Amino acid sequence: MSENIHARAQGLLAESLVEGIPADSQNWLEQHLQDCEECARLAETTRGLLRALRGVAVAVPVDLAARTQLRVRLRAQETAPGSRSGLVLWLLTGMSWLLGIFSAPLIWRGFGWIGAEFGVPKLALEFGFVLWWAVPALLAVGVVLHQRGTAMPGRTQL
Ligand SMILES: [Zn+2]
Repeated sequence: MSENIHARAQGLLAESLVEGIPADSQNWLEQHLQDCEECARLAETTRGLLRALRGVAVAVPVDLAARTQLRVRLRAQETAPGSRSGLVLWLLTGMSWLLGIFSAPLIWRGFGWIGAEFGVPKLALEFGFVLWWAVPALLAVGVVLHQRGTAMPGRTQL
């Protein structure tokens, strides 16, 4: 077999993976892949890579939220004592809790005033109050994730 045949096979392989090729070319390619170990290996590797890439692309939007939550938990767990990001995480979390605790009576009074003034249902007020508490903690986690993401680019692939 000449070099030309392998080059044609590899060209067809790339085309078939990207945009598809006519049936007769496909048949010729399959035949060549059966006969030629080297091209078959290349085809297998390329298809495997493409499968992996497509798997990632499809998986991200579907369960991004779940993955993010898992990631937050994993990162919180894997944070070694003494590491800079870990310290930042604890500082921010602690600050957000302190802020929440100290501002709670004030905010709660504010919510109570809004409720009395505008006739907002108690459930809505409580929900807003909980959100007020949750937002700083969520922000803290976001900041830490972003920081760790830029610090360790190899580990942020989804
Ligand atoms: Zn070949």
